[in-house]
Amino acid sequence: IDVRRIRNFSIVAHVDHGKSTLADRLLEITGVIKPGAERAQVLDQLQVERERGITVKAVTASLNYTYNNETYLLNLIDTPGHVDFANEVVRSVTACQGVIMLVDANEGIQAQTVAVHNLAKRNNLVIIPTLNKVDLPRANPDKVKKQLKQVFNIDENSVLSISAKKGWGVPELLQSVIERIPPPAVESEGHFRAHIIDTWHDKYRGVLCLAYIHSGRVQVGQAVKWSSDSKVNTVRHLALLRPDEEAIEEAVAGQVVMVGCGPKGGGGVGEQLLSKELAESGAVTGMPPVKHMVYAGIFPADQSQHAMVSDAIRKLALNDSAVSVSPDSSPALGQGWRIGFLGLLHLEVFTQRLLQEHKAEAILTAPSVPYKVKIKGAKLLKQYRTDVILITNPLQLPDPNNIEEYYEPFVLGTIITPVEFIGAVTTLCIDRRGAPLPSSAVDDQMTMLQFVLPLAEVVVDFHDTLKSITSGFASFDYQDNGFHPSPLVRMDILLNGSLVDELSTIVHASRLEYNARRLTEKLKAMIPRQMVQVAIQAVVGGKVYARETIKAYRKDVTAKLYGGDVTRRKKLLKQQAEGKKKMRSVANIKIPRDTFIDVLKKQ
Ligand code: GDP
Ligand code: MG
Repeated sequence: IDVRRIRNFSIVAHVDHGKSTLADRLLEITGVIKPGAERAQVLDQLQVERERGITVKAVTASLNYTYNNETYLLNLIDTPGHVDFANEVVRSVTACQGVIMLVDANEGIQAQTVAVHNLAKRNNLVIIPTLNKVDLPRANPDKVKKQLKQVFNIDENSVLSISAKKGWGVPELLQSVIERIPPPAVESEGHFRAHIIDTWHDKYRGVLCLAYIHSGRVQVGQAVKWSSDSKVNTVRHLALLRPDEEAIEEAVAGQVVMVGCGPKGGGGVGEQLLSKELAESGAVTGMPPVKHMVYAGIFPADQSQHAMVSDAIRKLALNDSAVSVSPDSSPALGQGWRIGFLGLLHLEVFTQRLLQEHKAEAILTAPSVPYKVKIKGAKLLKQYRTDVILITNPLQLPDPNNIEEYYEPFVLGTIITPVEFIGAVTTLCIDRRGAPLPSSAVDDQMTMLQFVLPLAEVVVDFHDTLKSITSGFASFDYQDNGFHPSPLVRMDILLNGSLVDELSTIVHASRLEYNARRLTEKLKAMIPRQMVQVAIQAVVGGKVYARETIKAYRKDVTAKLYGGDVTRRKKLLKQQAEGKKKMRSVANIKIPRDTFIDVLKKQ
């Protein structure tokens, strides 16, 4: 293969603007699937993707296309549809030289359009601006072309118009891909070096990887090493994905191929696969690690399922290398895991897959964000060997006396909204502690607002609230804005003076009283009456911010049975005994396990 006839590209767009439909059309044109074949979008393979209509995993298809009597190898790298998956997108774009940026000719530019455009710009990719759905009667290509000019300064003459559904304009689009996007700039000679875009697990062949080859060539049987590992491996599987596997003997720089090194061959996303000689020369440095922005606890619904849930999480993590998994335990919920995600949607998709693909019954705790603290005190500094530490669980916080400053993660949020909702959206963002940046017009009906917002305020229900106050017309996207200093405190819950570990939270000082009241009220409603009076207190460093009391009550379960039916009575006592097993006891107060589940669960 001549590298001058390779094109590596992605389709990027706001959700529902037609990526998957266009991908299907491209597969048809290049003869991979039969036109009109009644099958669900080929590249969206996971159940969760079909149900939510979003693309979660990046999937690749290598297509042959003949243009001016030359056959080109077009590698379509399908990108996930949400910025939560920026990690997946970024990995994909590093293998691309250009993108098809789809914009719905009816809806126009949306928040995610802005995000993917910026991502492509940052990576110096050629952008082919393409209006989709021009078959719709309400499509307004001229209006959207003006938006593209206004927001991105895109020349109207460079904009293509297609209908992915009907196939209109799609051959011309493929020709633009060949004409406008350059071939990969790679070193065909030299040592073999590839980076891993994606991995998945095969029952018989072990880990299989999608690799972009930066330099050299690779053959079946070749000795290779992972950048993270000193072990020598052998390339056992090499294939083009069309998107079904087509085995090949050799691949060259510029190609995107499937590689596997056998059941014990290893490999992970972000790693590099190198020729043995290059690896041993020490000339290669690693890729930056992913950043986890949302954490949640996952516990088996029943501890007897621990092994099964563990296995399911391990398998999913293999397929979704962006998550971090560490063991966690809670007196109320038992043994579980604390999982780090790229964002909220990532969390939702992961848990949905856990339930659907692995039939695991698991409890999910409310999501939280990581914090940082600057510590002081010789002993602590020596223990941590650094002065700023990352906190992913409130219980890891050092004594407040040893904390010099707290930091919380912020995001740059982009909202595109009809002008009539500017007031409501601004109020929402200010309410969520957002700081406004200058806004700009998209056209005479739509405006782009930008805010720097604390991530903690976005993860709760920001997106849903935004949708409901704008009747669904506003779109939202965010990108990381780093950690900023913030007045934070750790709020604890005491039951009759005893600390309940799993209910500690980190809150912003301005939210303290509200959160204290809400949590104590919720607990009062959930904890059953006890033999003794129960005082529920929300405290910060010894000071009480809210208090609720549950009056004592003696519950005689058998009294109402009039001493009659013996079997019923036995059954009731047995049920009560079983119920007791599921209790967590704090200072002699029995709290049903469900209480913790409900308090900790996402609302
Ligand atoms: P994705 O979220 O970007 O992958 O979008 P999809 O490809 O799933 O498309 C979202 C919806 O728009 C689906 O119902 C498609 O059938 C529809 N759609 C996509 N392209 C076109 C088009 O060119 N014309 C029309 N009328 N509908 C389209
Ligand atoms: Mg899709």
